[in-house]
Amino acid sequence: KLLVKMEHLGKVYGNGTIALQDVNLDISEGEFLSFVGPSGCGKSTIFKMIAGLGAPTGGTLDIMGMTPKEARKQSEIAFVFQDHTLLPWCSVQDNVMLPLELRGVPKKTQREEAARVLELVGLKDYMKALPRQLSGGMKMRVSIARALVSRPKLLLMDEPFGALDEITRQTLQDELLSIWQQDQKMTVLFVTHNVFEAVFLSTRVIVMTPRPGKVSATIEIPEPFP
Ligand code: ADP
Ligand code: ADP
Repeated sequence: KLLVKMEHLGKVYGNGTIALQDVNLDISEGEFLSFVGPSGCGKSTIFKMIAGLGAPTGGTLDIMGMTPKEARKQSEIAFVFQDHTLLPWCSVQDNVMLPLELRGVPKKTQREEAARVLELVGLKDYMKALPRQLSGGMKMRVSIARALVSRPKLLLMDEPFGALDEITRQTLQDELLSIWQQDQKMTVLFVTHNVFEAVFLSTRVIVMTPRPGKVSATIEIPEPFP
C-alpha cells in the first residue's frame, strides 16, 4: 500500500537556493527508509516538506491522499529529532502525554497510552522523573515514546542518534528495530550520516547527492534482518 508519493518534487528557497529538483519517490506502508548523503543535499528539506513545514515549489507530494499539513493534523505523522525537545519542567509521563493533551484526549486515555509507549521503550519506572535526571539515551527513548503515543503511520527521525555514544546508539538501534517490527504498518523515514546505521536499520536506503537534479541511488536491502 502506497503511503507517500513524490512526483517531480522540487524546492527552491526564497534566496534562490535550489535544494531539491525532480525528486520521484514512492514509499510504501511498513518500509524503513533511510536517507543518507552529505550535508546540504536536501535531507532536511524533504523532511520539512513531509512535515508540512514549507511547501514544495514544484511537483507534488502526496501523503495517503492528503497534503502534508492535513496528514499532520490527523496525527498521521510524528517526529523525532536529535535535540529532543523535552519540556524540562515536566515529568517523563507529562512529556509523553503532551501530544494527546494538545488534541484534547481524555486524561485517562492519556495515562494509558503513555504507559503503553513507556513500556515499549523500557522507561515505565521513570514516569515521574524529570528529563534532567535522565541520560542522553533515556531522553531519546522518551522522545521516541512521545512520537509513538499518537500511533502515527509515518515516523520521521532526523539524525536521532547522532549525539549518542556508540554503545548507546547500538542499543537504541536494536530497540527501534524491535518497536518497528512490532507494528508492521508503521513507516519509518530515517536521516543519518552513518551508512552502517542506514544499512543495518533499513529496508531501503536512498543515497542523495549534493547537487540537486543529479541522479541519486537507491539501495534495496534484500534481507533486512538476520
Ligand atoms: P521557505 O521557502 O521555506 O519559506 P525561505 O525561502 O523563506 O523558506 O527561507 C527562510 C530564511 O532562511 C531565508 O531568509 C533564508 O535566507 C534563510 N536561509 C538561507 N540559507 C539558509 C540555510 N542554509 N539554512 C537555513 N536557513 C537559511
Ligand atoms: P541537509 O539536510 O541534507 O543538510 P538541507 O535540506 O538542510 O540539506 O539543505 C539543502 C540546501 O538548501 C542547502 O544548500 C541549504 O543551504 C539550503 N537551505 C536549507 N534551508 C534553507 C533556507 N531556509 N533558505 C535557503 N536555503 C536553505
